[in-house]
Amino acid sequence: APDKLQALRSALAGIEIITDPAQLTKLSLDFYHYSPVLTRQLSEKRGDLVVRPANEAEVMRVAAACAQHRIPVTIRGAGTGNYGQCIPLRGGVILDVSKLNQVLWAKPGVARVQAGAKLMAIDKQTREIGWEIRMAPSTYRTATIGGFIAGGSGGIGSITYGQLRDRGNVLALRVVTLEEEPRIIELRGDEVFKVSHAWGLNGIITEVEIPLAPAYPWAELVVAFPAEVGFMPAAHFGQALGDADGIIKKMISLHAWPIPSYFAPLRGSVPEGSAIALLMIAESSVEPLMELIREHGGQVVYNKTAQEASKGIMLGEFTWNHTTLHCRSVDTSLTYLQSAFPADRELKMVQHMYEYFGDEVLMHLEFIRIEGQATPVGLQIVRFTTEDRLNEIMRYHEENGVFIANPHTFIIEDGGRKVMDPRQIRFKQEVDPYGLLNPGKMRTWQERASG
Ligand code: FAD
Repeated sequence: APDKLQALRSALAGIEIITDPAQLTKLSLDFYHYSPVLTRQLSEKRGDLVVRPANEAEVMRVAAACAQHRIPVTIRGAGTGNYGQCIPLRGGVILDVSKLNQVLWAKPGVARVQAGAKLMAIDKQTREIGWEIRMAPSTYRTATIGGFIAGGSGGIGSITYGQLRDRGNVLALRVVTLEEEPRIIELRGDEVFKVSHAWGLNGIITEVEIPLAPAYPWAELVVAFPAEVGFMPAAHFGQALGDADGIIKKMISLHAWPIPSYFAPLRGSVPEGSAIALLMIAESSVEPLMELIREHGGQVVYNKTAQEASKGIMLGEFTWNHTTLHCRSVDTSLTYLQSAFPADRELKMVQHMYEYFGDEVLMHLEFIRIEGQATPVGLQIVRFTTEDRLNEIMRYHEENGVFIANPHTFIIEDGGRKVMDPRQIRFKQEVDPYGLLNPGKMRTWQERASG
């Protein structure tokens, strides 16, 4: 109601508020449009106003006022999520945390930063002491650390360090509650899982303590495999590199043809019809890597030192969901899957799906470490026809033992979760008693509320 919003605005005097309709539209949406299903469901959703606190004290004032007036709050980092996680379903306040962007301290192996700090900006500071973030989404340049922990899963670096959900990859979170008198709660150890990957449903993260990795100079390479041999030799090379413990790596990203044909800036380097591997490898490991490439019949078609790679193209921006971005920039009817194949060094199920779906589902794999083993996860490109067919494709994967984290839903349980962790539901009751944080995204909570 307008009077509620008016009261809110007076309570927030001195804090930046945005109501300009064009800005409001931009700051209400994210990258939901990769999904034709979410596009149909979410494109009209808007917040009523954006509030941009500059520090934690201002965050607490926003939380207090919204609790008092029972106004929904949707937290926003950089808005690069893919499932409409930060799109407000019921209007209200968009709490943009991008001004909380300080690196508070960094020492060998660990840093403490504000939640709105951008990943690349954090790295820039920690590299001065020889360390870097362990893993980052391909949206590294723009995404915030808070948004990554609340909405993401892993990415570049996950081949060595696993995913955010693995114990040890987030050391502590500081959270502001949504109550008339907001509290600050510091979560350490396994307690971080009360809030991590909870899509901003479980408190406002203001600070994050993260472990760091040694910052090697990372060479960037593209390896092509002859068109006649198809995709599987590239996939086997990816597995072998993932398993090569002596080679220090940060990224192993595999693409079946025609995906490379959508990578305009790389087109000159990739032979027609080739499957490719996009790699980030410590410079000191490039020589042994060359032996492995030879063994697998690959050909290096692009090779940049870390120094050269720091200017111009970032290969990482062709991997993970940037692959989908490039494909969709040519053909907007393309969409994608998120899948995890069973750990199997022979990659039998990868081969089956590659052959079974042919040109309808184009194979894109990222190798990551799951429970100690290099394992392929897929962000396959799908030639979309109907929602029924998309569901059928996902169902076929699941029936064959391929885990699907459905990226075509804004309900948290229906994505990668399947069921809510009871710790997260209990914590939500504690920190968001009125159910104002990102309402409508957690089925278990809605069902509870409706009785
Ligand atoms: P937002 O989109 O702003 O927010 C994400 C979620 O976190 C929302 O639910 C929001 O409410 C919540 N949130 C944000 N900040 C806070 C806070 N301070 N406290 C509590 N909740 C908060 N993801 C990956 O995991 N790996 C990838 O490799 C990857 N690649 C991508 C590539 C492209 C091209 C695109 C468009 C997306 C990709 N993503 C990937 C998804 C997304 O970019 C990342 O998860 C990113 O880290 C999200 O950060 P953000 O700051 O944009 O978060």
